[in-house]
Amino acid sequence: MPRTGPATHDVVVIGAGLAGLRAAHILARAGRDVVVLEAADDVGGRERTDIVDGFLLDRGFHVLNPAYPALPHAADLAALDLQAFPVGVRVRRERRSVRLGHPLRHPGLIPATVASGLVRPADLWALARWTMPAMLDPKGVISGSDRSLAEGWARAGLTGALRTEVLEPFLAGVIADDTGATSEAFVRLLVRMFALGRPGLPADGIAALPRHLASRAEAAGADIRLSHRVTALSRGTGACEVAVAGADTVHASRVIIAVGPEAVATLTDLPARKTKGLQTWWFDAAQEPAFDALLAVDGRRRGPIVNTAVLSRTARTYAPRGHHLVQATCLLPTDGRGASEDEVRRQLAELWGKDAAQWRLLRRDDVRHALPAQPAPLHVRSAPWIAERILIAGDHRDTASIQGALVSGARVARTLLSI
Ligand SMILES: Cc1cc2nc3c(=O)[nH]c(=O)nc-3n(C[C@H](O)[C@H](O)[C@H](O)COP(=O)(O)OP(=O)(O)OC[C@H]3O[C@@H](n4cnc5c(N)ncnc54)[C@H](O)[C@@H]3O)c2cc1C
Repeated sequence: MPRTGPATHDVVVIGAGLAGLRAAHILARAGRDVVVLEAADDVGGRERTDIVDGFLLDRGFHVLNPAYPALPHAADLAALDLQAFPVGVRVRRERRSVRLGHPLRHPGLIPATVASGLVRPADLWALARWTMPAMLDPKGVISGSDRSLAEGWARAGLTGALRTEVLEPFLAGVIADDTGATSEAFVRLLVRMFALGRPGLPADGIAALPRHLASRAEAAGADIRLSHRVTALSRGTGACEVAVAGADTVHASRVIIAVGPEAVATLTDLPARKTKGLQTWWFDAAQEPAFDALLAVDGRRRGPIVNTAVLSRTARTYAPRGHHLVQATCLLPTDGRGASEDEVRRQLAELWGKDAAQWRLLRRDDVRHALPAQPAPLHVRSAPWIAERILIAGDHRDTASIQGALVSGARVARTLLSI
């Protein structure tokens, strides 16, 4: 009897984050034999949700913007039961808190917006001028010249309170950077998404998105193996060998490396990509701090919090009946030393006008590698191949976002299908 060697799969995908799952789904649907190896105990990568004392806690504060062009191709949005945030923000100024809202989506907030003192015509005009290229010609923004965000805003004449008290603190939480060094083109594309879509959260937590992608990939025939950490990757003449901690080596004709930016250098010769960290504090507030779901920022920039929100106001499913879930997000410096609990509670009290000393701390998430740094010039659509038989995907190969991860995963899959 001839001895049969180990099966050689068409494709092994390393990593079951959004990029890996998206690639696996496309390849399996096209009839390829796909195995996904994931180090963690569940799919999702950076997009995970845990149940803690009846609360849904995402690992860090996430939002899902349905305007991302890649989303409807990857997922059935209706199945995610998105709970939408209001399109507005609460800003703590020196003397009082004010509210601003999108005039068409929340006409009831127009008087408050006008009275906020934050929307001066010169600032509005500068913001419109700065935003317009991304609204009219996003491809031109990607292919055009790029500079730092701070430089771009200065050139557009955006210098007033709308920038310093609203846009800067708000965007700091979105791009995990408050230095102004992030690519202007990248932020323009993000702002375009905020203008077009109404971000929200899946009723079952942000993890509902990767779980949904995983179930689609499995239904198409992909074999997803959890708790399978890849330790080494080598190329033979006819196939790649993928070594897995505590399990058999897996063989495949092609390998897609879909790990996060911090892990790329462990499996490839590519240099480590710089990342940005975020820290989120989750509290069970005895009394509801606000009667709307607006995200709150500190226009005075007086403390570590870049944004805070009563999440259970947006998604009731995030807290048990009678409880209120508050998140407070801070930037996490590269040395990993985040804010102190006292600082966070003090600023929360100032932002919400409520005593936060007694709120029960449910959990603190320190996510050191939340996002790949995205300095100017913006490089999207990085080459899928890094060696013969080996491709790479992830948000660090496109834009630092859900959109970037999904697009990148789809790109490597289509590249493979085209050969
Ligand atoms: C706190 C936070 C908030 C965010 N908020 C937003 C937001 O509001 N909007 C937005 O668009 N984006 C947001 N993002 C970014 C978004 O989550 C990511 O861009 C996206 O999830 C990246 O997906 P990925 O597949 O590229 O990488 P990852 O999610 O990092 O997936 C990589 C996977 O590879 C696995 N892996 C690593 N090494 C190995 C190995 N050796 N063997 C096997 N498996 C391995 C990891 O366990 C992981 O599951 C946020 C991120 C964080 C952390």
